[in-house]
Amino acid sequence: MPRRCTVCDHPERHSIDEALVTGAPYRSVAKRFERSESAVYRHKTEHLPAHLLKAKEVEEAARADDLLDQVRNLQAHALDILERAEKAGDLRTALAAISQARGNLELLGKLAGELDERPVVNLNVSPEWLELRAVMVGALEPYSEARGAVLSALEGAGNG
Ligand SMILES: [Zn+2]
Repeated sequence: MPRRCTVCDHPERHSIDEALVTGAPYRSVAKRFERSESAVYRHKTEHLPAHLLKAKEVEEAARADDLLDQVRNLQAHALDILERAEKAGDLRTALAAISQARGNLELLGKLAGELDERPVVNLNVSPEWLELRAVMVGALEPYSEARGAVLSALEGAGNG
């Protein structure tokens, strides 16, 4: 069993790390938090870097999560606009919403891929994308010319 670190186990370990990060001498930190100088020194050299790395990772994951939420929000808006434009028969707006939604999906795929450390998500097998694609192809049913144009544009983009 490795010896427990009395600084890691300290209830105010966070404050100790903070003090050490801001450059406080380990002697004064030891005195302030009632630990031995050697324990603080060992903690600073052996454990602090790992704690900092972990804190940075947590911070970055939180930032990525926030970004993901924002894109999800955008996506909900785009799909809402698409639905309303479809109902109103506003083909131009519907197409703009589809284009926006497609971009959002790509971004979501990339973000999710980075978060999960999975290889880049293939949009063409994403269930959301396939669903959206079915919805828009259905919506464009009465406009065969536009439908053909959209489909060929999508296929071109999918290959690119
Ligand atoms: Zn420690």
